Amino acid sequence: MPDLLERLQDVRLRVARAAERAHRLPSQVQVVAVSKTVGAEMVMEAYRLGQTHFGENRTQELRDKTRVLANMGPMPDACWHLVGHLQSNKVKPAVELSDIIESVDSVRLAELVDLRAGELGRKLPVLLQVDFTAEPQRSGFVPEELLSAAEGLASLGNLAIQGLMTIAPLGLDEDELRRVFRSLVGLRDLLAGRCPRVDWRHLSMGMTDDFEIAIEEGSTIVRIGRAIFGERPYP
Ligand SMILES: *Cc1c(COP(=O)(O)O)cnc(C)c1O
Repeated sequence: MPDLLERLQDVRLRVARAAERAHRLPSQVQVVAVSKTVGAEMVMEAYRLGQTHFGENRTQELRDKTRVLANMGPMPDACWHLVGHLQSNKVKPAVELSDIIESVDSVRLAELVDLRAGELGRKLPVLLQVDFTAEPQRSGFVPEELLSAAEGLASLGNLAIQGLMTIAPLGLDEDELRRVFRSLVGLRDLLAGRCPRVDWRHLSMGMTDDFEIAIEEGSTIVRIGRAIFGERPYP
């Protein structure tokens, strides 16, 4: 198995090539290394190799890992993205521990995050998660729902809304993936027309299996786990 440096370099190269194909700059795409299930030593190794953005999907794991990391050495440039569904009883630690919450997936959650961020005197960067499948187990705003909620969300003073996030459904072919990613771009454009005060700069879309297609379609954040850290012990 190739080592971490090789995998990181390979991902950076693939990001750069995909950006070039889309006549974009590689620097316009932020790679978030999704470190769920990955040990703190490996995260620190990635940091020392220049990876600064990390993603976790569970608040408890984020807490445990950042504690261990704090004893391993300073990580002044580290930026922690929470990318998984957030339960309301975990909002407080999530707001304390994250630099950005990418998975704000309901008005109720947005209001809770706003409340907790206010208590901590923070203006917290967030992305609004969109789900294009409308399957009951999946989290995310349905597009029409987000369009009608956007003004209200934009008025939450302790949230710095920075754009949208989506997780493409499993098992799509390339054309279907492109349709999903274009739908997120289209929704962002509609929202930008409706709420021009909000900074809709980010589109977080693309994971290990589809990040190059996502970048070609305009992604500004790709969340990559397995291509950087190798296969996870469980799905
Ligand atoms: C696990 C996860 C990723 C990374 O998945 P890979 O397929 O390993 O790249 C990205 N986004 C979210 C929300 C995740 O939970």
